[in-house]
Amino acid sequence: MPELPEVETIARGLAHTVAGKTIESVNITLRKMVQAPRGVVFSRALRGERVDAVGRRGKYVVMRLRSGRALVTSLRMTGRLVVQRPGEPDYPGTHVVLHYTDGTRLSFADVRTFGRMRLVEPGEPWDADLGVEPLSSGFTPEAFIGMLSGRTTPIKALLLDQHRIAGIGNIYACEALWEARIRPGRPAKALTKPAILRLYHAIRDVLTRATEMRGTSVDDYVDADGLEGGFQNVLSVYGKLGEPCPRCGAPIVRTVLAQRGTWWCRTCQR
Ligand SMILES: [Zn+2]
Repeated sequence: MPELPEVETIARGLAHTVAGKTIESVNITLRKMVQAPRGVVFSRALRGERVDAVGRRGKYVVMRLRSGRALVTSLRMTGRLVVQRPGEPDYPGTHVVLHYTDGTRLSFADVRTFGRMRLVEPGEPWDADLGVEPLSSGFTPEAFIGMLSGRTTPIKALLLDQHRIAGIGNIYACEALWEARIRPGRPAKALTKPAILRLYHAIRDVLTRATEMRGTSVDDYVDADGLEGGFQNVLSVYGKLGEPCPRCGAPIVRTVLAQRGTWWCRTCQR
């Protein structure tokens, strides 16, 4: 599932390839992939729009349009945004296509069809429910301490809560907790201040390194150019059941927490 580093990589790729282009037409073959506005209103609204910039908010790809509107895409589990040249066949599982005036097109593909596109009007507070960006200056150690204070939620579940911190998913929650030597099931409020600070720095470190490596390719993730990331080669615990912990050598275990597979080391994560 694409998380912050993967979505950031996709957005940066799209910024190179589609910023400055004008949308000529839109083709929707699976209606539910467009959340709002429905059907022809969506297509008509996008026609003639110019893409000014492409960025990311949480796990969403945000295309800023000349009119002030934004096209927001949630990739969910298996969503892909891939740019294609004239004559190239559609990417497998394509449901929405934006055709640009220069003949290229952006395919929104999703085999499992959980992804969504949404056109947002200027000033519409579509991201009001999303928490702080973990790599922004707004995410400070003090803010993180305040976020954990008094909460009985397991720390891993709190890291996954998009209303608090936007962009962390299962891979980077597992990796950051390992790096900070913290047991995933610990109640947030039970963490000592040094532990919270270790986790704060681990979150930023893991997300920064993964973004530099263009994300983690598990579950067939590819970026806007159809390329794999590199962070799967340096994972410490995620998906490593039974393998030796890179720090202490004890076997990595897998438990289930908040309905998600959780990989960690019983020996050095406390
Ligand atoms: Zn260990």
